[in-house]
Amino acid sequence: MKTVYILGAGFSVEAGAPTQAAIIPQAFKLYETNSSYFDKKRFSEFTNFIKEQLAIPEERFSNIALEDIFTPLDRCLSENSQFRGVSLDNIMRIRESVFYVVGRTIQILLNNTDKSKDYINDFAEYLTKLSSVRAHENYRSKDPVSVISANWDILLDNSIHQFILRKDCYDAVVDYCCYISSRDENDSSVKPGLEKLGQGGFNVKLLKLHGSLNWLQCPRCARLYAKFSSKEAINNFAEKTSCRHCDKNFPEEDGNHLLAANLIMPTYIKDLSNPQYKIVWQNAGIEISEAEKIVFIGYSLPSADFEMRQLLSRMTRKNVKIHVVDYCEEDSQGNVKSHWRSFFGARDITFSFDGAKTYIDNLVNES
Ligand SMILES: [Zn+2]
Repeated sequence: MKTVYILGAGFSVEAGAPTQAAIIPQAFKLYETNSSYFDKKRFSEFTNFIKEQLAIPEERFSNIALEDIFTPLDRCLSENSQFRGVSLDNIMRIRESVFYVVGRTIQILLNNTDKSKDYINDFAEYLTKLSSVRAHENYRSKDPVSVISANWDILLDNSIHQFILRKDCYDAVVDYCCYISSRDENDSSVKPGLEKLGQGGFNVKLLKLHGSLNWLQCPRCARLYAKFSSKEAINNFAEKTSCRHCDKNFPEEDGNHLLAANLIMPTYIKDLSNPQYKIVWQNAGIEISEAEKIVFIGYSLPSADFEMRQLLSRMTRKNVKIHVVDYCEEDSQGNVKSHWRSFFGARDITFSFDGAKTYIDNLVNES
């Protein structure tokens, strides 16, 4: 029986991560509490854009939705058009600043939370143990589990990575299911999954549909670089680094291939043309098509997420078992149920409404 877990923001909330709607209000709250949390120049680029271009008055700043910030920016970039007098170069920069504020806010909240991420560690251990049957070249016949995540945070990524490092018996990698290079040249704990399987080890599959805070991409060769236990995409704003492969291949331009964060932001016109994201999305489709059971944790299947909806509607088996883990009071459970039933029709759907932590505690205890 193959199970695919699909995670949304609700998966990380009980460990202290913000929901998407809370990111902008939280950013302003943090800046008010302690402005030294942020790079001042970046933060004021972000607020100026909201004030000047979007014409939102200051008292309404914290109500603005990420979609309304990113959709016009991304549309202008994809059409090569300027936005209300702002040149393309500046749009790129503003986009980076908004991205910086978003990523930094998640980072600060997770660093300062008093909530425990034990349940995420438990889930990481559970996934790694299940995946270990693929070792010793058994991967052709065994493929019990994978995770597809819509989240940028790296709570689960780090938990899996640390569990593998702690256990000498596991020769494994976190497999982002695209071609990934290690950020530090000598870091052997970051390897493509296929390479690890070929060596007799195994992979724990974690497909991140919207990118990851620990990924950086080379603008020239499109290689993705990853590092664990570090939110690279945010740290990169302070200290830019260059693609070591391109620097070697094009020595006349040494240092000119600055790595950049490249997350998929919430917009109504997501740009998934990036070659690495195409691979991740294609592989996610394959995982879904192979699933006999799909468990959604903290994911609400919103209408704006139409790429995910079309992927599910194209690739989900008719006889798949679906379980939805949400966190809500009894009076809204009926609406949640009909929302999912109207999407998946006659398929077998079950629900639990006590949140991710309770669900994972039970899952681990039963295993
Ligand atoms: Zn490169």
